[in-house]
Amino acid sequence: MQKARCTQDDSTYGADQFADLSNDDFLSRRQNLVCPECGGRAFFRKQSQNGRESCFGARPHAEGCGQRTAQAAASAHQERGSPGAWIDPNTRIAVDLTSQSGARNGYDSVPSDNIEMEDEFSAYAEHLRMEKVRENSLRHMRMGPLLRQLISNPAFHHSQQVIEIPGLGKFRACDFFVALPDICARHDNLTLGVFGRIVNVTHSQQYKCVWLRTEGFDNPNIYIPQDIALCLLDLLSINGLAYLTGSHMLVFGAVRISSNGQRYIYLDDPRHIAVQPS
Ligand SMILES: [Zn+2]
Repeated sequence: MQKARCTQDDSTYGADQFADLSNDDFLSRRQNLVCPECGGRAFFRKQSQNGRESCFGARPHAEGCGQRTAQAAASAHQERGSPGAWIDPNTRIAVDLTSQSGARNGYDSVPSDNIEMEDEFSAYAEHLRMEKVRENSLRHMRMGPLLRQLISNPAFHHSQQVIEIPGLGKFRACDFFVALPDICARHDNLTLGVFGRIVNVTHSQQYKCVWLRTEGFDNPNIYIPQDIALCLLDLLSINGLAYLTGSHMLVFGAVRISSNGQRYIYLDDPRHIAVQPS
């Protein structure tokens, strides 16, 4: 949405106007934003690198709020081109970790340096043909759509589908994606894509971290060091991680064991988490 009301100074701000506030005002008023129509708690989302303008959102709007439909339509528009209920098993999936963008960093091909002049034209034609083949068999997906796929299509995480993750490697979906209740000793010290629901968020002064608590007594919780937690507020456009309570999440993290023998998942990169309000 384009406008939000701040309960601190009882003013309504446009997104650009809000982005121009001094740092002090920006930080304190950001905590006190509500939807101007229904009063639901709102967040500010700054302009993204791929040109999406700054805006506001609310989580959640009240039932029947007119801004809610507009927000849903905007997110649907953003997700345009994301996969539907199925993924072709012959397609490899390259996970795109660039925030909110369809950028294809790292996958652009570089034409060979060794092309002889006389062959240049045919080599270029061949290059174009290969690009087309590659485009057909490689699908770029951000973590959000992957999470939705995991939630809506249980067959997906048991499949042989190949997933490539920049910096982590290449895996089969059935090896890499594990639902939280299924994590066990054979996963210890592996980096996995774990998914499940957040039931509570707690801060630990002692360990300088945030815990995302998950369902079930024995299920591993997610450990987020404080500096990573701070980056997440901006990346997810939220004012506090407590907003994530109740959300589904997908986390790329290592399975570790605490001194009292509890398994937990260590999140060490703010780009390695996606959340989906339930
Ligand atoms: Zn509203």
